[in-house]
Amino acid sequence: MFTDIQFDENKLNAKLQKRLLWLLVLTGCVANMIGFLSNVVLFGMTTPTIICGICELIVIACGVAGIGFGKQKSATVIMVTVFALIEFPFLFYVYGANMGVYLILGIVALAIYFPRPYHVPVIVVTILLDILVVVLSYFFPSGMEEMSKESQFGTMLCSFLIVASSTAIMLCILIHQYMVQRSQIFSISQQLEYAANHDALTEVYNRRYLMNTLKQWMSMEHKHFLVALIDIDDFKKINDTYGHVYGDEVLAQLARLMQQEIDGKGIAARYGGEEFMLLFEKADRKMAMDILKRISDGLGEFSNKTRQITITFSGGMEEYRTDARIDELFRNADKKLYQAKSSGKNQVIY
Ligand code: GH3
Ligand code: MG
Ligand code: MG
Repeated sequence: MFTDIQFDENKLNAKLQKRLLWLLVLTGCVANMIGFLSNVVLFGMTTPTIICGICELIVIACGVAGIGFGKQKSATVIMVTVFALIEFPFLFYVYGANMGVYLILGIVALAIYFPRPYHVPVIVVTILLDILVVVLSYFFPSGMEEMSKESQFGTMLCSFLIVASSTAIMLCILIHQYMVQRSQIFSISQQLEYAANHDALTEVYNRRYLMNTLKQWMSMEHKHFLVALIDIDDFKKINDTYGHVYGDEVLAQLARLMQQEIDGKGIAARYGGEEFMLLFEKADRKMAMDILKRISDGLGEFSNKTRQITITFSGGMEEYRTDARIDELFRNADKKLYQAKSSGKNQVIY
């Protein structure tokens, strides 16, 4: 059913890092360009204008290094550090409360972009720095915050749009990543569960699942069921004569037949090697014998068609009665299988 179990976390993370870097570069470019141009128009070549200009150049350089030359990590760290620790606190000091949203954006960006585990100390330092700037701007105002009402409105609207859109996109990217990873984990857990309970060659249940089912059935009150241990006759000879690949095909075909015939009436499992076990949910001996006969006929037909031989199996069937132990059940089924082998094979003894 499942061919490989894999979870390519590195590929997924690389995609996420790339998307986040693109977002940082694009919003950084647009925001700084708006900041630079509006500062030039409103105030001319002042310090904030120059700071916005320098930050724009840093973003472009980091964008080229990160996207063009694969230096994603360094480019991201430089950009978020410059934004959160230099540009945003500076803009807040110069323009006052209108820039408050940028301080929050800086902290959010550090939490998302800064490499683990260094993000915590860097966020703490940034918060302390932001508090210092807020206090400084209160006691020693820069004087530049006295903008016209229109400029204040424009600045507020721009900063809101930039912060709101970049935060929303950041969240969308992260939530998308979470959803993709969640569905991958779900699919992997299903594959693991399948692999843990099935035999890889024949795809019927394995011994682990068989034992768990048996224990479960035995714990049910008044549950009466049948177990049949079956073993292919002269399988070593089949392997030696027709090769192991054909031997494997025989095992797979027998498993398919067992599964097909017992479907809805019990389970089939590979006990080990060329031995299988069938658990019949009801202690209906006739029904069990009919099923075993159909499996035997099917195996004979398959071997006749593929190698002009008749492959058979022998079996021992035992009924579970309340309070019997698993080892007792198996020992009795095995004894009957041995009897079937020693009295000519190709038969099931009950
Ligand atoms: P008997 O009728 O008494 O059961 O004789 P047998 O030859 O079937 O029994 P024996 O125990 O001597 O040999 C079982 C063979 O099954 C030996 C082993 O190589 C083969 N076998 C076990 N598992 C596999 C498998 O996964 N694939 C193949 N091709 N052969 C297997
Ligand atoms: Mg055997
Ligand atoms: Mg055998």
